[in-house]
Amino acid sequence: RHYTLSKALILLWLNTIVHTHVLSQPWSPLDAPKEIAQQLIRDPVILSLASTDFGHIVHKNPFAIFTPSSVKDISKLIKFSKTLPIPFTIAPRGQAHSLRGQAMTNNGLVVNMTALNEFRNGSGIVVFDKETPPYVDVRGGQIWIDVLHATLQHGLTPLSWTDYLYLSVGGTLSNAGISGQTFRFGPQISNVHELDVVTGKGDTVTCSTKKNSDLFYAVLGGLGQFGIITRARIALGPAPTRAKWLRLLYNDFSAFSRDQEHLISFNGRNDTNAPDYVEGQLLLNQPSQALSFYPGSDQPRITSLITQFGIIYIIELVKYYDDSSEDHIDQEIELLTQGLKFVPTFMFEKDVSYEQFLNRVHDDELLLRSQGLWDVPHPWLNLFVPASRISDFDEGVFKGIILKQNITAGLVLIYPMNKTRWDDKMSAVTPDADVFYVISFLRIANFETLEALQVQNQQIIQLCVDIGIGMKQYLPLIKTQEEWVAQYGLKWKTIQDRKIQFDPNKILSPGQGIFN
Ligand code: FAD
Repeated sequence: RHYTLSKALILLWLNTIVHTHVLSQPWSPLDAPKEIAQQLIRDPVILSLASTDFGHIVHKNPFAIFTPSSVKDISKLIKFSKTLPIPFTIAPRGQAHSLRGQAMTNNGLVVNMTALNEFRNGSGIVVFDKETPPYVDVRGGQIWIDVLHATLQHGLTPLSWTDYLYLSVGGTLSNAGISGQTFRFGPQISNVHELDVVTGKGDTVTCSTKKNSDLFYAVLGGLGQFGIITRARIALGPAPTRAKWLRLLYNDFSAFSRDQEHLISFNGRNDTNAPDYVEGQLLLNQPSQALSFYPGSDQPRITSLITQFGIIYIIELVKYYDDSSEDHIDQEIELLTQGLKFVPTFMFEKDVSYEQFLNRVHDDELLLRSQGLWDVPHPWLNLFVPASRISDFDEGVFKGIILKQNITAGLVLIYPMNKTRWDDKMSAVTPDADVFYVISFLRIANFETLEALQVQNQQIIQLCVDIGIGMKQYLPLIKTQEEWVAQYGLKWKTIQDRKIQFDPNKILSPGQGIFN
């Protein structure tokens, strides 16, 4: 009883502090200049939509949603916040496909990037197809599927993608934007020529490697900490029309990782012998939809392979082609797969359009939505692991933790990338290794399994720390300052300096939890 009483008193005390602080402030965002205040929404239904994200794990209550018509409005909002004794925080929100509140704020403002005029009237994507090389100018709130459609109309395409295309340009460029093309073209942040940014001081700045380069490097991979991306100029190349999409099954991890690293060693941007996409995944105790890629008649023998070995590793390999290369595509595939050590006869192939391939995850989304499995908790974990320690990771995590615990692993992706395709001046963090793997545990939970999966994520992180694997988190789920310092390593001082330079009042993207 004593404990319950103390708890109640503490809660009452905290509540009083919060209320005194919020209600006794003589100012609020509603005191902003009229044209700004008019664009604030406090409708409870809309507020509740902005208090959650794809992760469905963390909830935060914003004061209001800001729906700017123009970039100038965003600048004015930030400048107003700066004038206050305690500035309110501002979280730009693209598609809110974050996992743990990164695009949210408590008591601050969420900026709906899709409210901008260019998004609403469809003028936010402009293709410059006559330039050599061609590029596209895209507003920060645009989604990648729309960028794909707009560029394909000109026979062009961005070169580097994410697996899922219903993400905003500003959102993926704030992280890195990775997929099976990254080994060759680098992450999406390596394919940007120029940005327009509204900084945390409210200044609107155009930046590139040549102009205001400090801001350019800060914002790319900057987790929304230094500025709001309002336009990105993105490199384009000729668009193929079709894709040969292969999956090769392995029962031996070292053969699998050796072959994956061999495939990403053809990494010249213009190397016609190189694969166009290399990813990989595990097959273990997933539900039957994990086999939907394979012909029904082969599914029983794949299932017995999983039963026999516990974990099957899959290389996913793609080669694009079009009319001009149709005659030799089969020969190119033969050359690429020659000498690879997958389990004989366990190579499967699909032939799909380029767009079908890039937009493949949307089909999964539609299926999961129809089963009520999309708007559920997602305790995902994404790690970058140096290639030199990948077999320790396999032993310790895949065979140690995942296989031994009787909880569904979800989809686990694993594929390597070349560090030379990343620019270390940018804020994105990678391990100290020439080749490193991304490992993504893409889990779907319900309220019974959430706790167990989160505990498992912590065990995985702890094991990496204990055996000194030197991993970094991607889409980091970091809570303490100490962990942020470890995550950034030698870059920590640069990140601190960039914050002081571009957002000294710590206004932007508080949900990342780095400075707030
Ligand atoms: P939000 O969640 O809205 O925002 C993310 C962060 O960026 C927040 O801190 C926000 O404040 C900030 N931000 C948003 N817009 C801007 C802006 N214009 N300027 C500055 N900061 C901004 N990632 C990959 O790299 N590869 C993948 O293959 C991949 N697949 C995914 C598949 C699914 C189904 C999901 C849900 C996520 C996937 N992701 C992947 C992760 C994804 O890239 C990030 O979650 C990304 O942030 C999502 O973009 P968003 O528009 O939803 O960003």
